[in-house]
Amino acid sequence: MGILSFLRRKGADDYDPLDAGHWEAVRSGRPAFAALDAGEVLTLRRLASWFIATRDFVSVGDAGPGDLDKATIAVLACLPILHLGARWYDDWSTVLVAPDSFVHSMTTVDSAGVVTDYDDELSGRVTEMGPVLLSLADVRASGHGDGYNVVVHEMAHKLDERDGALDGCPPLPRSMSRRAWNDAFAPAFDDFCSRVEREGRGRKLLRSSRLPLDDYAAESPEEFFAVACETFFDAPHRIQGAYPAVTSLLATFFKGGDS
Ligand SMILES: [Zn+2]
Repeated sequence: MGILSFLRRKGADDYDPLDAGHWEAVRSGRPAFAALDAGEVLTLRRLASWFIATRDFVSVGDAGPGDLDKATIAVLACLPILHLGARWYDDWSTVLVAPDSFVHSMTTVDSAGVVTDYDDELSGRVTEMGPVLLSLADVRASGHGDGYNVVVHEMAHKLDERDGALDGCPPLPRSMSRRAWNDAFAPAFDDFCSRVEREGRGRKLLRSSRLPLDDYAAESPEEFFAVACETFFDAPHRIQGAYPAVTSLLATFFKGGDS
């Protein structure tokens, strides 16, 4: 067997766990990892090594990223696929790393044909079937228990788009129904949009406001799903209290379909 065919066949289970020093540094101060049992920790550390070995990390500007940054991105990125498995990320491989949040020029056209150009400040972005772009400053600020996790957010979009439609519903295992998913997510999204209207918009209010999720979730059903995933892993009590049916479906989905 040639080395190339060996590499192709190497699965996440064949990798040594992420080294203890990096694991400790990433885990420390990030409450989501405290809930994992020893078997889950071992699986996650192997997935993280697999992720680092199979992704092309490309620096945008002079961001680095250093080994600890790669380990941080890998561990946070693999948390959602801990029970789903590595194959969920087999349709993309490039991680672009920018030093800080970046400005993305957007154009919208309204129903009257009025064109508006504006700049949007982003901490992460995915290209369909393509690279994930992450701000290193936001990666480092992710997962500290306040509900903010740009890596999980962008990975949620990657899971969502696997069925060809970025619509807030990833491909579901056979044991889960699309109708039940819509029946939980659609009213939760509508309710959240109403809450945002009542509380007033503004990203500065986000974390200290009474909203259960970052108000970016009101942008669209797919952003609602991505923000719900961030909160589910990072501050589960917030989403559990507001949207228990959504939380229950996310728990089942991220366990791989077993309730
Ligand atoms: Zn998003």
